[in-house]
Amino acid sequence: MSEPSPINVRLFREKGLPQSEVEQIHAVFERHHGPIKMRVERKPVELPKNGYVPDTLAWNDIFQTMSVLAAEHELGKDDLLCMLTTSPNENNWYAVNDPEAPSRFFMHFVDCSWVTTAPQCLVSAYGIIHCVITTLLARAGIDIRDMVHEETRGCLLDFCANKAELGFGLRCADICGDCITVFESAGFPAPLFEQIAAILESVRRAAVNTSQFLPEPPAFLAWPYPVAITRHKVVQSTRPLLRFLLLLDHFDSMVRYFFLAREISEGRQPVLAEKPSLGWWVDQLAQSLNGAKQFKAVVAIAQQEKVVMLRNERRGHGWMATNEDAYSEEAAALEKTLTRIEDELRPFFERYQLVIPREIRIASGDFHISGDLLAGSHSLHPPFEVTIPDNPRDRGLLDQHRVYLTDREFTKFHPMYPLLCHETCPECKHPRLLITDGGSQYIDAFMGHRVNIKH
Ligand SMILES: [Zn+2]
Ligand SMILES: [Zn+2]
Repeated sequence: MSEPSPINVRLFREKGLPQSEVEQIHAVFERHHGPIKMRVERKPVELPKNGYVPDTLAWNDIFQTMSVLAAEHELGKDDLLCMLTTSPNENNWYAVNDPEAPSRFFMHFVDCSWVTTAPQCLVSAYGIIHCVITTLLARAGIDIRDMVHEETRGCLLDFCANKAELGFGLRCADICGDCITVFESAGFPAPLFEQIAAILESVRRAAVNTSQFLPEPPAFLAWPYPVAITRHKVVQSTRPLLRFLLLLDHFDSMVRYFFLAREISEGRQPVLAEKPSLGWWVDQLAQSLNGAKQFKAVVAIAQQEKVVMLRNERRGHGWMATNEDAYSEEAAALEKTLTRIEDELRPFFERYQLVIPREIRIASGDFHISGDLLAGSHSLHPPFEVTIPDNPRDRGLLDQHRVYLTDREFTKFHPMYPLLCHETCPECKHPRLLITDGGSQYIDAFMGHRVNIKH
């Protein structure tokens, strides 16, 4: 079965809205990938505030700006444009499609914490889905204004004249039977329904009042193995000293993995120093991020909190305090710092995954790739399977049984070999994911063994 055509949404933001917020929204659609695909524009947009209410945006100005942007960025006729605004708009609406060009819409990125516990990125994703549906219906000749429900019934198409009703809508995060019938008649493909349902499910989960009593699956279970495993070890440890040391390992692992994966994903081949120190990794990352807009906070946080110094003093050199409790405060402070770094890196950890393709089959003209997905902290890696219409070699998959970095949709395979390899650790004699430590030195991500491998 061939994939439905993508619904490409270009995300713009009004000046003043941090790019990291937009990346979080992008990450929601990557986590629940499907036909709706996002692309974030880096440059913020200045919008005039000429609304009939003072200090507000006039709708026509926003529509006009979006039309100019669509032309400047050469958006195709099927592309959608979303403008996230921080300034209030004159009619105080939450999400509006341009009636003359429904594929362009704006959405007010406003603090909704007074109506919902759902994080802003999920509230925005909910609004974007609404606008995407409006666009698709317009293309099918259906005016959404004929469909919206004046009376709130817990459907995505509730009008919600009273903003507090949005909270109710988010707790339902559903589409009513009437609407589904119309969407089906408009030809919405099954994968689109599936993507929307998955996003709505995570919205509901975050919005319901009882969610606080549900066990939260830890976010790291979806991260790439090298950083998921070091995180999991921290979670399992209760002794302060051990926890402190494992946190330092986790920091090392995050910086090391992020630097390597980012360089490879950008098409660069990192050259490693002989026996690189933690300070070397952080410096390399700082250089690599020089000029980049995103992720710079990672280095800033690490430097500000002096993580490298802490590690050198507490672990590398100096003597250890014998009293375990002496470490509980330091462990807590370090954990806080690392949580901030994790929040910054999360979009990257969720965008790219590590895979080992084991088998490629051709059936009815399509290529079926299956293998190991190096995600989560379990060393028995879960399987993955994907079907693509074109030759995997054209996407960069040249060798089976090697570690590749790929996006969630497998559009490109970046070889991580020999920086990352999966083979028997000479120390514990088990197949392990090994991460470079310069030259022929590797670290067994699971056990922490430092070993020598000649390739
Ligand atoms: Zn409905
Ligand atoms: Zn080992």
